[in-house]
Amino acid sequence: MKQLKNILCSKIKTGTGYFPLLFSLATVFFITVTASGTNCTENDTVIINDGPYIYFDYDALKVKWIENNHLVEENLTIFNFDKIKNRFNLLNNFNDLFNAFLIPPVFRQSYRNVDSIALVSDVHGQYDIYTNLLKKNGIIDDNLSWKFGKGHLVVLGDVFDRGGKVTEIFWHLFGLEKQARKSGGRVHLLLGNHEVMILSQATSYIHNKYEKVENITGTDYYELYSANSVLGSWLRSKPVIASINDIIFVHGGLSVDVVKRKMKITKINRLYHEKIIGKDYSFIEQNDDLLLLTDEKGPLWYRGYFFDKNFEESRIDSILKFYKKKHIVVGHTVTREIVSLFDKKIIGCDAGIMYRKPGEMLIVKNGVFHRGLSNGKRIKL
Ligand code: ZN
Repeated sequence: MKQLKNILCSKIKTGTGYFPLLFSLATVFFITVTASGTNCTENDTVIINDGPYIYFDYDALKVKWIENNHLVEENLTIFNFDKIKNRFNLLNNFNDLFNAFLIPPVFRQSYRNVDSIALVSDVHGQYDIYTNLLKKNGIIDDNLSWKFGKGHLVVLGDVFDRGGKVTEIFWHLFGLEKQARKSGGRVHLLLGNHEVMILSQATSYIHNKYEKVENITGTDYYELYSANSVLGSWLRSKPVIASINDIIFVHGGLSVDVVKRKMKITKINRLYHEKIIGKDYSFIEQNDDLLLLTDEKGPLWYRGYFFDKNFEESRIDSILKFYKKKHIVVGHTVTREIVSLFDKKIIGCDAGIMYRKPGEMLIVKNGVFHRGLSNGKRIKL
């Protein structure tokens, strides 16, 4: 039976058929000069440390990790949790591990009256770049704990794949989410196409470190994020689209095709959760809505704002009118820096962290958009 992973993989390999319109030369140059940074410099002699992977197995909570290339497995209880917590700098407590299995997905993702919003996108396993951006832009302190008060942090998808510190980022976000809520703020982790791929068993883009992790653990990478695992269960509760104030956040973008089918945010989140993630392609292909949501005009894959030379402002106006919002913020398509299209109706935020560039954050303060640089400087967009 053909799995969703096959179609997802073939799409990312062949789904760039649009002629680059706006950023073609800049992007091509950018990718050319940085491509050497896309592959890891690690070799077979490198020492692998990874984890923890915490999961239920026959009603017992277990933990496994890799220490100097060796697999360690233990039952996890309140008595040895602090050892694990300290070893991996976890921000959460023992009970949070159980709560991860109880979080209901919330399809209606609409937040209002938020003064401060910060966003990072497409971090792709680059933990050091990610933490530097959050520190320098005042989202976390030197201990990596929340210091953004009642602000909302959006992580706009594609934490998985390409880089070698994916596990570290997810555990940090898992703990940060709770700290933010305690302060009256929020962390919104939205799914990108790479999250949907891994949760649908498509692992073509994992860093070669994780191929070694598969060998050492004797486990397929996607199984480490199964619904029985803390992080896997937590990820399966996450939406693909959210709105804050007058801004829509979505990894790829919203196309006119999605609007023609009158797909509201709530419906898209529900369909992804109930009928797309982890489902067979033979199931998806029977339904036109599901096909659209998973193809190149779907919200996690769309690149039309940047690459469709026929894309006119009237199109984005009709899309914004349908959703009753003023801006759409996206990642997924790499640009040299955070960019505004059509006078901030579209804002592209994938500033090339996957190429180990210093990256940028989008900072929205009282409705004013800024680029937040890796040294903490802000430039009005
Ligand atoms: Zn993407």
